Amino acid sequence: MYHPQVGDPLEALDTPSMIVDIALMEENIVRLMQRFREKRVHVRPHLKTVKSPELARLLLAAGAIGGCVAKVSEAEVMAQGGIEDLLITTEVVGKPKLLRLVDLVRQHPRIKVVVDSLAGAQALDQAMSAAQVEVNVLIDLNVGQNRCGVLPGEEALMLAQQLSKMSNIHLVGVQGYEGHLQHIHDPEERGRRCQQAMQALTETAAQLRAKGFPIEIVTTGGTGTAEICANCAEITEVQPGSFVFMDTDYRNALGPAYANALTILSTVISKPTPTRAVVDAGLKSLSIESGMPEPKGLTGIAYQPGGDEHGILTWSMSAASALTPLEIGDRIEFIPSHIDTTINLHDTYYAHRNGRLEAIWPVTARGKVQ
Ligand code: PLP
Ligand code: MN
Repeated sequence: MYHPQVGDPLEALDTPSMIVDIALMEENIVRLMQRFREKRVHVRPHLKTVKSPELARLLLAAGAIGGCVAKVSEAEVMAQGGIEDLLITTEVVGKPKLLRLVDLVRQHPRIKVVVDSLAGAQALDQAMSAAQVEVNVLIDLNVGQNRCGVLPGEEALMLAQQLSKMSNIHLVGVQGYEGHLQHIHDPEERGRRCQQAMQALTETAAQLRAKGFPIEIVTTGGTGTAEICANCAEITEVQPGSFVFMDTDYRNALGPAYANALTILSTVISKPTPTRAVVDAGLKSLSIESGMPEPKGLTGIAYQPGGDEHGILTWSMSAASALTPLEIGDRIEFIPSHIDTTINLHDTYYAHRNGRLEAIWPVTARGKVQ
């Protein structure tokens, strides 16, 4: 029976497997928490990256005040795992989802949710009222990503006024996530555009307060911008997620701010030519929408998916003599290009320290997209 256990060497793992270098992950978490402790801004990490209550608890132990989740089903998993203070950062719409949310908030009253429309808020209020449950909400602002969110200023004030007439939902804050700025490579441009977005967010928060609305939470920021956001005095909390493990997309934008702490371990299963090898990790193991994953420590060798279950590695004949030759049976680690969607492809984290398994965590919220 295949049954990897804590204490086993990495060699005992079958492939493909998702592996975590615990020491690097811990450094990432400590580094981020330290940066925000200095800035006196709360950290509410986005748990859509880790998708695991065990890892969420590690983040809380390191100083996080709670977590963000993208979806109600993710909130269910985290609440079940003991994470009580959750912000659902996506609008909750549709009767089945509202009923799930009512059940969840009844049991876990610290769950909060964003709204960005009168229709959405009315449906939420009606669902809550029918069950005699109350929920705290944040207005979702569009600060430039052009995804969800009302416009800063007048539109936000109007929605706040409409919310104040509803009996079972209570406005406690604003969210203004600048997702379009996370991966800008030029730090000057990222900083400047982020400051503009923060201005829209914080001015709206101030306008709402001036009208008497109790805006306690002003939340925003991802791995690429959280530090810039936190320089803004009115921001109360930031929501980075990817920093825990990083990926090549973020590393290419941010440099060595955080370490790549998660890889997908795979095996060379074929080497049909002197310049081509095939591994057992394809589209079902590694996401590619943010670019190709990187074979760790193998410069000059490029990965491309060879279908659902295969990955093709190629290198040039001229480079071949300089490279360590790949042989059938070799094991290769890939650094994901996009961490969130890659983790969502795997059931289990195999976490090691110096090559020996120290923890095995299920990706409990894998596939929780509802
Ligand atoms: N907040 C919201 C609303 C998001 O959608 C995301 C990611 O897409 C994040 C925070 C976290 O961003 P990251 O994982 O890039 O740090
Ligand atoms: Mn992402």
